[in-house]
Amino acid sequence: MRVLLVNAATGYVKQKAPLPLGLLSVATHLKNNGHEARIYDRAVEGGGFSRRLDRFSPGLVGISVPGGMSFADALKLSRVCKKRNIPVVWGGPMASLVPELALQSGVVDFVALGDGEAPTLALADALSAGEPAENIAGLAMLRGGEPLVNKPDRPAGLAGLPVIDFTFVDASKYFFKNRSCERMLHVYASKGCTGTCAFCYNSGLAKGCWRRRPVGYVVEELRWLKEHYRIDGVYFVDDLIAPDRETLAGFCRALIAASLDIAWSCDIRADLFEREDFFLMAEAGCRWVMCGIESGTPAGQRLIKKYLDLDKARDTMRWCAEAGIFTTATFITGLPDQTEEDLKQSVAYMRSLGAQTVIGGIFGPFPATEMTLALVEQGRMRMPATLREWASAATMHTLGNNFSRVPSRELRVIVNRCLYLVMFNRYELEGARKRLWLGRLAFQLRDMLRRGNLRSLLLAAVSAKELLEIFWFALMYPGIVKKYGLQRTRTNEGRPRG
Ligand code: SF4
Repeated sequence: MRVLLVNAATGYVKQKAPLPLGLLSVATHLKNNGHEARIYDRAVEGGGFSRRLDRFSPGLVGISVPGGMSFADALKLSRVCKKRNIPVVWGGPMASLVPELALQSGVVDFVALGDGEAPTLALADALSAGEPAENIAGLAMLRGGEPLVNKPDRPAGLAGLPVIDFTFVDASKYFFKNRSCERMLHVYASKGCTGTCAFCYNSGLAKGCWRRRPVGYVVEELRWLKEHYRIDGVYFVDDLIAPDRETLAGFCRALIAASLDIAWSCDIRADLFEREDFFLMAEAGCRWVMCGIESGTPAGQRLIKKYLDLDKARDTMRWCAEAGIFTTATFITGLPDQTEEDLKQSVAYMRSLGAQTVIGGIFGPFPATEMTLALVEQGRMRMPATLREWASAATMHTLGNNFSRVPSRELRVIVNRCLYLVMFNRYELEGARKRLWLGRLAFQLRDMLRRGNLRSLLLAAVSAKELLEIFWFALMYPGIVKKYGLQRTRTNEGRPRG
């Protein structure tokens, strides 16, 4: 059967689109099992969905819906398919969390829950054989007007998923820059997370389950990308690169043995590893790590149920700096019931943590998380009843409901002031003190000029608007900046002093 796999557009054009790894894996799995698949990624390719349907004549269209911002586009595409009687299956984290709402839209026939490979293949097999799909595990559908949700089998190991065939896309369209690497791509080495933080989508999706891909698969993919695209770096998009020291060591040793000469970055939990682990990571090519701190106070850690050891996180930043690994730490403002005092302490902790860059976000409720369910139960939030409502509720880019006790303006000043500091501080990079944002901005401009299409113009317009917003909130409210201790000081810059 011919299956067209579509990555729905987010409408958020600021960031470079990541490789559609989920769709690539599904496409490879279909191909390996005798189906013909194609990928249409609306994040990097122009319009023409109907034209693609005409040319390819798929018997099934799969649409990836990774986040709430993709709903509008995914619904639009599904309507087109409905008019042509082409069955549509949605997949991706957001679709998996609200399958009933997707089905009730009237234009989505199936939702693949969790890993999309097995249910999509089983569905393609069933449709091509003219057999019913009612018993396919991990597939939701409407039957008799009611949602029939077949839970996925227990999460299987990732060895059953394929080594990705990247020939489905032009990977050069997804290159992004970080420090001196200009041909970086997103890849993955694991799925899920051992944590169940109350605000995080993993509390409703992975539910504490972390699964590792065979490291041989990862090495094979990196080697292929290096040979065919001359990549110089990758970002592992995993929520957690390793849940313990032993796993991390095995992963690093495999990369060292492969001698790939590829720089990489990843997300870690900031209290899991010891000093020597970061030196091993550096030896394996790790140059940057991202650490989700989320709250700099013990009360905040209890609220979000992350229970991070905040003292150990400080050690981690120092050890990373000693090993030559650049650190970015993130935190969330506007958590439910957060007071000004708690936020002040949290910001003070983040400023003294020793991370080279600190980025703040504003709390937004995500479907099926413990925090969202609690807010609904307390009557402080109505459970969104449509996909459109979820799309506006579940985003960290806009300020929706403010559930904290801190005025919304203060949250926006803090978040934008942190971005401003990241943009204008100098960092010690490759032996020189540089401003991070200048290199990235130049890369982005070059990229936009090279493309010269409507999307690039949009990108430029959105970037300019967001830049103005950053400057406005960062500079026009000196009282709030002072209140939260976000002045620019020499000690914010460069390597941690502690
Ligand atoms: S916030 Fe991070 S540590 Fe917590 S569940 Fe999500 S991915 Fe895991």
